[in-house]
Amino acid sequence: PPAEEKFEFQAEVSRVMHLIINSLYSNKDIFLRELVSNASDACDKKRFLALSSGTDGGQPEVFVKADKEKGTITVEDSGIGMTRQELINNLGSIATSGTSKFVDALGENGSGDMNLIGQFGVGFYSAYLVSDSVQVVTRSYTDPNAKQYRWESDAENSFIIREDDSEPFKNGSGTRIILHVKEGCKEFLENYKLEELMKRYSEFIQFPVYSWASRTEYDEVPDGDEKDAEGKQKMKREPRTVEEWSQVNKLKPLWMRKPKEISSDEYSAFYKTITKDFSDPLAHTHFAVEGDVEFRALLFCPKTLPSNLRQNMFGDQGSLLKLYVKRVFISDKFEDLLPRWLVFIKGVIDSEDLPLNVSREILQKSRVLRIISKRLVRKSVDMFKAVKARDNNDFEDFWAQFGRYIKAGIIETDDHTDDLMKLALWPSTQSQEKLTDLDGYVSRMKESQKDIYFVAADSRAAGESAPAMERLRKHGYEVLFLTEPVDEMTVQKVITFKTKRNADDKDDTMFKFVDVTKDDLDLGELKSDEEKKEDKALVEEYKAVVEYFQKLLSDKVGKVQVSDRLTESASTITQSSFGISPTMERYMKEVGS
Ligand code: ADP
Ligand code: MG
Repeated sequence: PPAEEKFEFQAEVSRVMHLIINSLYSNKDIFLRELVSNASDACDKKRFLALSSGTDGGQPEVFVKADKEKGTITVEDSGIGMTRQELINNLGSIATSGTSKFVDALGENGSGDMNLIGQFGVGFYSAYLVSDSVQVVTRSYTDPNAKQYRWESDAENSFIIREDDSEPFKNGSGTRIILHVKEGCKEFLENYKLEELMKRYSEFIQFPVYSWASRTEYDEVPDGDEKDAEGKQKMKREPRTVEEWSQVNKLKPLWMRKPKEISSDEYSAFYKTITKDFSDPLAHTHFAVEGDVEFRALLFCPKTLPSNLRQNMFGDQGSLLKLYVKRVFISDKFEDLLPRWLVFIKGVIDSEDLPLNVSREILQKSRVLRIISKRLVRKSVDMFKAVKARDNNDFEDFWAQFGRYIKAGIIETDDHTDDLMKLALWPSTQSQEKLTDLDGYVSRMKESQKDIYFVAADSRAAGESAPAMERLRKHGYEVLFLTEPVDEMTVQKVITFKTKRNADDKDDTMFKFVDVTKDDLDLGELKSDEEKKEDKALVEEYKAVVEYFQKLLSDKVGKVQVSDRLTESASTITQSSFGISPTMERYMKEVGS
């Protein structure tokens, strides 16, 4: 390649940079979080490569230092570095799918939440929140013949790449990012200020992170010509400022510590670091499994649906837990650690058994993985149960965000069905606003009632007006509204719900789910011989009418018959007990199967 070459930013990247540079966003600190997180990712990648190829890449480290005279901040890591082509691709020429999503999230004038930048995979550009020009010096670990390169841009639609002969990297590879701090951001040129930010942002980084810190030391020096009583030279203490690298983070990974000794603030802060979410998690579960298969896990349930799941229920990539093997980060791209209905769970798994060079293929076939995965599912379900047991609205909030995943879990697996059904909440005729769980429903069942009744409809209003509801209302029976496509599949899958009818019952009773609109609805009403005779006579009397409608509607309905189910309406349309219902068709479409 030529010694120096100029490249245009991809259009979407230009747009992101433009929004960042002109942003009035006041929380500019986040640039350091993003750059240190990139440095840490680069260290992860290098350590992984070094270990799996049996070589020593040296201890990966991160250094951050401000230089007031030059007006620069430097963030340097001894990580994997970038080749020339990677520099071109990663920093400007190729937009990721997140780039345009981030532009959308920020809105026309860029007034949206800049804090989200890391979630969209464009964190690097946050450097331009505080600088008007940025240089990236880097040398790749992957190519032993790699040259050192410099990327440089003042964000005017283009960047330059050239060979670089500035200071080489101590361990042979790494990346040095030099920010030329712009007017109005000079406060970041104070090392103590950077250190303060780093304490906050790099607490959970697994590699030593250093800031350039000054501290005062005292020297004993002669105090003029003064002598003390014994005739010895009198001394005094003289202050001297020492500047040196000082490590800002503790190194023990959070998941290796004892749960009892970790505060909820620490859990929250850790969650935010690994997820780039900025609200606290709703719940966590932290446990170690010993014996045949050994691992530690720390799982979190977010408060709200992660952004990568907003458009596509199960996301594009499956669940992205971070997998470590003996403290070494392996990947956050193994999708098979959790089933897809738990795709929203975040966290860290650290295995003692898997090989370091574990590949997707190995992992998929591994018995260890199956055991780990089973445990993770069990613990996730327990975590949801614990949220439900809380004395507040947390579970309702959880349900609003993740209820359909729980229903998908009921449909797609055969484990934990009873537990998941007990968690599930449904709208019912009992209350306009509040949802009920099935235990609540059963506790309100009438003496004469045998089954759990539901009506499947597009909306609650449509369900309310189903003609069959009249008879149930008359009996005072509560009816569940299944308004989501998955609802109906859920009850069709489980068929029954098992629970105690009365709190002091010894055994569970099986309650059947019964669709009130199906044509064989049996409310267990007993008819006298007299009434049965009357029914027969009615059928006889309306024979001609029935035949007439049967003919008229022959291509629209399966069967026309006289019914005793209506008390006020003249006619109703029902489903046969065996047909696929419209809601079910909607579910199949929604989950794309
Ligand atoms: P993300 O970190 O989400 O991928 P960024 O915009 O922060 O998005 O970074 C873009 C890409 O640039 C990274 O994926 C990585 O390939 C590369 N990169 C950034 N900083 C470094 C670094 N310090 N060392 C090596 N590669 C880096
Ligand atoms: Mg990043």
